[in-house]
Amino acid sequence: MSTGDCLFCKIIAGEIPSGKVYEDDDCYAFNDISPQAPTHVLIVPRKHIDSLDKAAAEDAELLGRLMLAAAEIARDKGFAEDGYRVVVNTNGDGGQTVFHLHVHLLGGRPFVFPPG
Ligand code: AMP
Ligand code: ZN
Repeated sequence: MSTGDCLFCKIIAGEIPSGKVYEDDDCYAFNDISPQAPTHVLIVPRKHIDSLDKAAAEDAELLGRLMLAAAEIARDKGFAEDGYRVVVNTNGDGGQTVFHLHVHLLGGRPFVFPPG
């Protein structure tokens, strides 16, 4: 997908509105439009990468920055000590629907892995 057609690239560019939560030179974070938890934030790299499957060795630091941004947001929101979940859905079976790599930060309620 070209970045011109990408929903999250448009959000980062301000062409589509979003509820901004955090930004830095490399990352942009905003509230998920369909929250699955009291806090559901998406952290995306400003650089367009289709999915985790397309990330390369040169993206290693950027991937780390996404994780650290998630942890910082969790602390700011006040649920870091209680705990939270970070998820990177990848490709079809992973449930990925927007093909711009993103980290889901879910907090404010307990999570349990499904049985089995
Ligand atoms: P995924 O299924 O992992 O690709 O996640 C895509 C996420 O983007 C879903 O949780 C959607 O609810 C969310 N989403 C889709 N469109 C928007 C939007 N315009 N603003 C905020 N979140 C969105
Ligand atoms: Zn994009």
